[in-house]
Amino acid sequence: ASLIIVAIMPYQSTFPPLDIPDVDLWTLIFGQRQRDFPLTKEILISADTARSYTWDYVRAASADFGRGLRSSWGWKKGDVLAFYTPNSIDTPILTLGTLWAGGIVSPANPLYTIDELTFQLRDSGAKGLVTQLDYLPTALAAAKKAGLPPNRILLLGPQRDDPSGQARHFSHLFHNPKTSPGTSHSPTPPMVPFHPRTDLAFLVYSSGTTGLPKGVGLTHHNMVSNLLQASYVEGAQWRCRGGPDGQGDAQLAVLPFFHIFGLTCGLLMSLHEGWRLVVLEGGGKFDVERALAAIQKHRIAFAYVPPPVVLAFAKQEAVGRYDLSSLKCLHSGAAPLTRELTEAVWKRLKVPVKQGYGLSETSAVVCCQTVDEWAKFMGSVGKLMPGMEARVVDEEGKEVEDGEPGELWLKGPNVFPGYFKRPELTKDAFSPDGFFKTGDVFRRDKHGNFYCVDRLKELIKYNGYPVPPAELEGVLLGHSEVADVCVIGVEDPDKATEVPRAYVVLREGVVAGVGKARELEEWVAERVAPHKRLRGGVCFVAKVPKSPSGKVLRRLMREQAKKQRRMA
Ligand code: AMP
Repeated sequence: ASLIIVAIMPYQSTFPPLDIPDVDLWTLIFGQRQRDFPLTKEILISADTARSYTWDYVRAASADFGRGLRSSWGWKKGDVLAFYTPNSIDTPILTLGTLWAGGIVSPANPLYTIDELTFQLRDSGAKGLVTQLDYLPTALAAAKKAGLPPNRILLLGPQRDDPSGQARHFSHLFHNPKTSPGTSHSPTPPMVPFHPRTDLAFLVYSSGTTGLPKGVGLTHHNMVSNLLQASYVEGAQWRCRGGPDGQGDAQLAVLPFFHIFGLTCGLLMSLHEGWRLVVLEGGGKFDVERALAAIQKHRIAFAYVPPPVVLAFAKQEAVGRYDLSSLKCLHSGAAPLTRELTEAVWKRLKVPVKQGYGLSETSAVVCCQTVDEWAKFMGSVGKLMPGMEARVVDEEGKEVEDGEPGELWLKGPNVFPGYFKRPELTKDAFSPDGFFKTGDVFRRDKHGNFYCVDRLKELIKYNGYPVPPAELEGVLLGHSEVADVCVIGVEDPDKATEVPRAYVVLREGVVAGVGKARELEEWVAERVAPHKRLRGGVCFVAKVPKSPSGKVLRRLMREQAKKQRRMA
């Protein structure tokens, strides 16, 4: 019989609290002398090429890169290095190297347009930019607009300098580029003094509960805490490491390293735990066949995925053509997962799908299911991470009855201190007693499991990627024939995701119709990254419903959306 938890407000994590050491992230991951795996273990493996790195190489190379940043670029504590690259096995070296040098990493989606990237470069005050040759034209254009000289652009990936001579490969920054960093010296810990509770490690961009993207500043302490919290829960219940052949710990990196979920649970967790991380390098859409082939070839044990990938495992015919016998678990997050999908994967593959929940603002993981309980509480996101507290509140910020739905508010060592250079927004994001207001609606059962019920905030999630409606509304208002607009997310159950849809009020005299809807969809597609396109179409309305204070009544729009017919 499972334990029934007596509710104490605020809800406390049902796991015992952890001792979080006061260290920086590099030291947490690489500072221990003894590990329970050989340091020559291959830890980063390119899924389709022969490239791979051992754990001790990544440790030494990251320190060497950090040294190079300081000696060649005069890198100072708090300087920001922006990343504009699809996943590569080089990304962890540069990420940890930037931290070694006391810098802050700000990752951007490699499908961003010039304007989207320029915004992040300017807002973060980036002093350098990392990209790949195929992404260089956009990177150069954005860097120019943001006032960053081309010699502050580094390339990663298989060694290739920019033929035009503007950007150089990151290995030029190694302390001693001629020797392999792994053998040149034993890595020393960072020389910069850290204040882990206040020094930022990452600046990830999220729209929060409203408006345009803003920098979510995550401290070393936030990230160290979340790694240890997730490690405790995964470690106690589901150590994938080992197995008879020592190969049972391979994770497939499906998620992008630029998003907090892929950054924490993919890149950082693997380095910290010593798991093998097999990386699907390169950009583009999720390719099911490629992922299945990698699972078969590398005997993958588990992967962190968004719900549309779970859908692929449940439904795609290709799944039957590969040997997936090594696969022990899928961890779904970033958007809601239905019970039906979990059941469908179990029925077909006998693979558990555990669900977790988190946000950029919480360094990723807030709740996650355990391997013992996923089947018992299907549809739940599991229990609160160790050391976290939660409140479930009504519109006035008062606790709802136990078991009733309300907005989830959170406190814990992994909760960010605030939005970068945005004190007003930071103030609004927290309650007077210091709880972060997630904008998500949850209920909690008597066993301590949380269930996502709704979303209060404006955010739309397409395939797990955040789409801020305010950004699309701004783009549409830039069209001369649009008088007013409201963008909301509508469900596309066939694809297990939300898609953005625009409700548009046209200027007087402009004729609505299928042609006009297509024109507006294209207008948006030309100006934003592909995941933000209006896949839910454009609907024309006489007016956008607003409250007396002028706030768009999105909830009403979402209810109406169920009845509206798509015009495009
Ligand atoms: P991001 O900052 O991009 O990670 O987005 C965080 C948001 O994603 C949360 O506030 C939720 O709205 C949504 N989200 C993440 N995981 C889940 C989940 N398991 N179920 C429902 N929504 C989720």
